[in-house]
Amino acid sequence: MTIIGGGHNGLVTAAYLAKSGLKVLVLEGREVVGGGAVTEEIAPGFRVSALDHAAGPFSTEVASDLNLAKFGLQMMTPEVRVLALSPDGRTLAIYNDTARTVSEVKNFSANDAESYPEFVNSFARIGRVLAPLVSMTPPSINRPSKAELWELGKVGLAFRKLGKKDEYRLLRWGPMAVADLVSEWFETELLRATIAARGIYGAFAGPWSAGTSLGLLWQAAMDGSAIGSATYAKGGMGALSAALADAAKKAGAEIRTRAAVSAITGADTDAPKVILEGGEEIESRVVVSNADPRTTFLELVDPVDLDPNFLSKMRNYRTPGTVAKLNLALDSLPAFRGVDGGDARVKLGGRIHIGPEIDYLERAFDASKYGEFSAEPYLDITIPSLNDPSLAPEGKHVMSIHVQFAPYKLKGDWGTKREELQENVIGLLEKYAPGMRGLIVAQQVITPLDLEQTYGLSGGHIHHGEQSLDQFFTFRPLIGWAQYRTPLKRLYLCGAGTHPGGGLTGLNGANAAREIARDLKAGKV
Ligand SMILES: Cc1cc2nc3c(=O)[nH]c(=O)nc-3n(C[C@H](O)[C@H](O)[C@H](O)COP(=O)(O)OP(=O)(O)OC[C@H]3O[C@@H](n4cnc5c(N)ncnc54)[C@H](O)[C@@H]3O)c2cc1C
Repeated sequence: MTIIGGGHNGLVTAAYLAKSGLKVLVLEGREVVGGGAVTEEIAPGFRVSALDHAAGPFSTEVASDLNLAKFGLQMMTPEVRVLALSPDGRTLAIYNDTARTVSEVKNFSANDAESYPEFVNSFARIGRVLAPLVSMTPPSINRPSKAELWELGKVGLAFRKLGKKDEYRLLRWGPMAVADLVSEWFETELLRATIAARGIYGAFAGPWSAGTSLGLLWQAAMDGSAIGSATYAKGGMGALSAALADAAKKAGAEIRTRAAVSAITGADTDAPKVILEGGEEIESRVVVSNADPRTTFLELVDPVDLDPNFLSKMRNYRTPGTVAKLNLALDSLPAFRGVDGGDARVKLGGRIHIGPEIDYLERAFDASKYGEFSAEPYLDITIPSLNDPSLAPEGKHVMSIHVQFAPYKLKGDWGTKREELQENVIGLLEKYAPGMRGLIVAQQVITPLDLEQTYGLSGGHIHHGEQSLDQFFTFRPLIGWAQYRTPLKRLYLCGAGTHPGGGLTGLNGANAAREIARDLKAGKV
């Protein structure tokens, strides 16, 4: 059993399969495992989650199956999910606790404070109905099996129990633009934009794009809330990957780093092989790819091995990257306007949102449609050293900044534009945290091109492909191929380009392992 890629999903698949007694080899192209979940040192003593900065959330079931706590994993959930900053210096904290959030929202609007609990409860109820879908293999479109229909039937039954109001909401919301959804609930722009941001996270879409409410529903299915979670691993996200790698190794898997695969051959025969960049050939009973679908089918597999119809659909699979990262080492905690009280460390402990209005977010997206990065980007920021001081020298901090929109397809060259992007972001941050520039000790800029070239993400797409309605659930990555199997009998997929999509959840890896084990047991491979 050979797994190409040691991203968190590849490691989850490896650990499950090795635990079931199979001989597993993981081949990771980079010098470290983890893919999007890596901790990097950006200056002596300053360590940061270079890409992914808060877990999806990671599946508690997978964590317990693989006993990750025993391998040192410690997850931390701050009290604040997200702190929204306004250019006028006002702030709005969304806590995990609804009552605390309501008292914050009251400062903006009594009507919104009244609506907020029902908004939270409705998404929680709907999330509970959708939750079984995320750990389920999407049913076959053409020939659903009895078991698949049974599982779907159970979801249908739970749906009927929701009651008319939530049933209608669920049916209506999926295809809606998230800007419309939030404006039906709230009148405060800052609150609307903060919630809507989840619908466009990592997407080539603005809040007025159709189908962006799906992101909120999916988040609710993952953790019961429409608003992005802020859960960190102690030691940065690389600690999650390290625990997964240890769990896989303990179960007997072998993990090789600096082992980039250049080709997969014979995957439709009984003797598939992977070929490493140095020319080494490794035979395997089954090959599982944690690389994204475009990399797998358009770069690693020889096109002559694939049906032209499948190939042309894969060429249309969309991966338009829109995210850059800026990671900063800071001499001290920046003073954000409006967050200077004694509770600053609590308030800044979750995600920090800059993107105060729906129109602001839409304008930020507009730029990327025309190959430019936003003059005023949407920023999703974390300061993980507040919750985990081990990440920076005493009294100092690291800041991780998700910058959207920064298009992979840029007018001009990312090589010469990275400083301009960095300057843009720091200039924007100065408006919210005056004096911030003077605190910067070191920085790391990661453009969408870097995401492709260094981290192996086609088109620099953070989720291995858009999570729009046409690339979702039974359509992910392609209609007819959403069950982790591929047209090549002995080749499987296990990464974020499969259901349930991107995010540090471990679910794709666990679902794929289950399907592979099922095929092995049935003697199909
Ligand atoms: C900038 C950024 C920010 C993000 N922020 C968040 C966040 O805050 N929260 C969240 O939940 N998710 C976030 N994500 C998304 C999350 O990181 C991904 O969904 C997740 O990493 C997918 O995991 P994976 O294991 O499927 O794939 P990956 O993490 O992409 O791992 C794939 C692995 O395969 C390896 N590989 C690829 N090709 C080859 C080859 N030919 N040979 C050998 N190895 C190969 C790669 O090096 C990589 O290690 C972010 C992603 C990025 C890029």
